[in-house]
Amino acid sequence: MVIGAGIGGLTATRVLADRFERVVLVESGVLPAVAGPRDGVPQARHVHGMPARGARQLEELFPGLRAELTAAGAPLFDHGLRASTTVFAGLVPRARAGVQAQCFSRDLLEWSLRRRVVEQPQVRVRDRSPVTGLCWSRDATRVVGVRLSGGEVLDAALVVDASGRFSKLPQWLVEAGYPRPAVQVVDAGLAYATMVFDAPGRGFDALQHMNSAPDLPRGAFVVHVEGGRWMATVFGAGGDHPPTDEQGWREFAGTLGNADLDALLASATPVKGAGIHGFKRTENRRYAYAAIRRWPRRLVAIGDSVAAFDPVFGQGMTVSVLQAEALGETLAGADDLDAVARRAQRRVAAIVRTPWLMSVSEDLAWHHYRERGTLPLWLRPVFWYKRRLIRLVVADAEVFRAFLSVYHMVRSPAALVGPRVLAKVCFRVPRLGPVKTATGSDGARQNSETVVPRLRGAEAKGGRACRKPNRSG
Ligand SMILES: Cc1cc2nc3c(=O)[nH]c(=O)nc-3n(C[C@H](O)[C@H](O)[C@H](O)COP(=O)(O)OP(=O)(O)OC[C@H]3O[C@@H](n4cnc5c(N)ncnc54)[C@H](O)[C@@H]3O)c2cc1C
Repeated sequence: MVIGAGIGGLTATRVLADRFERVVLVESGVLPAVAGPRDGVPQARHVHGMPARGARQLEELFPGLRAELTAAGAPLFDHGLRASTTVFAGLVPRARAGVQAQCFSRDLLEWSLRRRVVEQPQVRVRDRSPVTGLCWSRDATRVVGVRLSGGEVLDAALVVDASGRFSKLPQWLVEAGYPRPAVQVVDAGLAYATMVFDAPGRGFDALQHMNSAPDLPRGAFVVHVEGGRWMATVFGAGGDHPPTDEQGWREFAGTLGNADLDALLASATPVKGAGIHGFKRTENRRYAYAAIRRWPRRLVAIGDSVAAFDPVFGQGMTVSVLQAEALGETLAGADDLDAVARRAQRRVAAIVRTPWLMSVSEDLAWHHYRERGTLPLWLRPVFWYKRRLIRLVVADAEVFRAFLSVYHMVRSPAALVGPRVLAKVCFRVPRLGPVKTATGSDGARQNSETVVPRLRGAEAKGGRACRKPNRSG
């Protein structure tokens, strides 16, 4: 039994179908028969980037998925060549990175997965069926099913909670006499606002304008998705939230001073009826389920239900998929179902660890700057390193490639502290010169017009590459 038909729930269902004769996927909302918006996943209205690692794992679980998405009109491209990337140190010059990226709406991805999951003869999907609680063995050591909102009880040999960021699992555990799970929350005070446009094709298929603590809270993600449409999310951290009316949204986007974004928006017409959607519940939240000494038998939690991340880092879907796969592997090697849950929960926690550190190390800065106006001593070296690394990303193609491979979760963050990168970060960081963002839609011309920081031996104090946002905007 799987609770929740999001990315985690769909992949878990796919994996469980290899092991069980019958898998029931229960979803509280309505699941549309076509690719389209649905309740239950308000985040789907916003740009969802899929790192290459997640795409690879999904392709293994759902062979042919990439080709199907491509046929549906989702652009597939080399990230280094077809993405316009701006960091605080300026526009990153385009260079082949060997990392494939694909842009699609979350609606299309979910629908493609859902269609394949439903086709499996072992799988039964029940939408409009909110789970209101777990059913327990008499001694409450084992989960034996779920209770639906109408009071109906569904028995299950194994229950997977994939009900997302707002999962009620902590409450269900407490009701059954378990200790309240420890939770860590790190909130960067980030909010998204997203519009969808019709616009002609440009020299890029994705645009990333990254924010940077503490003085550049604003950023943007734009993706060219199926149907030739453009999905554009602007965001602000540290409480600097984007408006959700069109004029305010456009003004906010304009404060980024990103010429690629400005040119796209100048030629873009908002899709009728698509509206502007905001999202504010973006805090990092991690439950320490694996630390509960007597974890219930036959219960596994995955995805955002266990750890939800600041979405700027685009890790959530990949983490969910990796966790579902780990559950499948744990099940494949197990004779005793009673022993599976605890083992699987530990693997789920291990998968969360690195993405959590990546997300939280940045967001702690927003948190500390907001609360105390400065960074704690222990975080300063991390930030010193990170800022120098980002400056190198603009100036050094090798560092950019390493950075992208970590961003796409193909390599571990250790790749960014290996001897070559470490030496460059310590001794060869470029001076921050005058850097302007690209103009026009032709990639080659953009790069030739970009003033790239020159490599120098020592770090120099300099002006910022991106216009500081107008905080009153
Ligand atoms: C604004 C925003 C942008 C994001 N951008 C990215 C991105 O670019 N890249 C990325 O990888 N990740 C991104 N994420 C994260 C990503 O959405 C999630 O990590 C991913 O969807 C995996 O979540 P999940 O399957 O655990 O839960 P969800 O996808 O949230 O699915 C949970 C499902 O459970 C259902 N449900 C909830 N309660 C019940 C119940 N009681 N009974 C039955 N069903 C229930 C819900 O209706 C929903 O269908 C973003 C998140 C946000 C908020």
